[in-house]
Amino acid sequence: MAALNRQMAMVMDLNKCIGCQTCTIACKRLWTDEEGMEYMWWNIVNTMPGKGTPKDWESMGGGFKAGEAQPGHLPTKDEFGDAWEFNYQDVFYKGDGSGTALRPKGETPEWGPNWDEDEAKGEYPDGYFFYLPRICNHCSNPACVAACPRKAIEKRDGDGIVVVNEDKCRGYRFCMEACPYKKIYFNHQKQVSQKCIFCFPRVEQGVAPACARQCTGRVRFVGYKDDENGPIYKLVEKWKVALPLHPEYGTEPNVFYVPPISPPLFDEEGNIIEGKPRIPNEYLVSLFGEEVLGVLDRIGAEMEKTKSGGKSEMLDTLIAYEWKTMFGGFDREPSTLKDSNRKADFVKTYQP
Ligand code: SF4
Ligand code: SF4
Ligand code: SF4
Repeated sequence: MAALNRQMAMVMDLNKCIGCQTCTIACKRLWTDEEGMEYMWWNIVNTMPGKGTPKDWESMGGGFKAGEAQPGHLPTKDEFGDAWEFNYQDVFYKGDGSGTALRPKGETPEWGPNWDEDEAKGEYPDGYFFYLPRICNHCSNPACVAACPRKAIEKRDGDGIVVVNEDKCRGYRFCMEACPYKKIYFNHQKQVSQKCIFCFPRVEQGVAPACARQCTGRVRFVGYKDDENGPIYKLVEKWKVALPLHPEYGTEPNVFYVPPISPPLFDEEGNIIEGKPRIPNEYLVSLFGEEVLGVLDRIGAEMEKTKSGGKSEMLDTLIAYEWKTMFGGFDREPSTLKDSNRKADFVKTYQP
């Protein structure tokens, strides 16, 4: 169904994400529930500003500068945060009532995949944070592809989805060093690299990726980037209100974010300080580049328009009254797929 050289993309509206991790679990249940994949979160939602997953990933290098590949750090399993086992047996079956609390078994962990959840920055009453969901960006200039000497990572012709061919992968992990977003994981059991596949077995059959279809906040828009009637083109190209994360990494991501609008700061008497957003502009610029300031202005102007009774197709699109409008035609019910279509296509094509 896909024409050659089209690019699938996602837009995530950060104003609507509630950090529920439904997306995270939707992906986990579908793709990373096997041995060796326990610690993998192809989709993860982090509180920002924060260290993220893996810990301090933004300072791990990789990507390109002026077209030159940059050295990158190979994230460790500890930096990702290992999977914990909990004392469910004790809590639910020991009969100790409130005497036993739910906690990870063994040594007390010192880091985990969403460790700094809901920790705000700033001073009361001006504390702030927001949620940042992250998947592989299925970049147009993917550093992971460039770094693999085995040509084991493929950027598919028809939809631009970036997939590891596990048959060719020899576990060198150069891709993990090279990806500046640190969205590749190493399966220590199978000795191969693994990553988000943009749910291509679903997408090929007209079903949106699981993380998008299950999203409780209607945060995620999906579709071909060049579909002028679809939400991606309108939000990214026409209205220019969605931007890639860290464009300076040079990989040309195909996941875009609508930046968060924040409430104003208060003065010491609790009065609103006009024109001073709670989330510092400098912080948003550090994530999305200078263009974010124009995006915030454009969204603000549309909000003013609707406050005075005007109509805004852009805001209506972002609100997404009808869920199908979010998926650029990829709105087939997942329950109409045969179960064999779920994982089998992936395994058949890319796993030995
Ligand atoms: Fe590759 Fe990383 Fe880009 Fe995904 S985000 S395509 S893993 S460089
Ligand atoms: Fe997981 Fe699919 Fe979302 Fe990728 S697109 S993070 S594989 S659910
Ligand atoms: Fe945010 Fe949607 Fe994921 Fe919930 S399911 S954390 S609202 S992106």
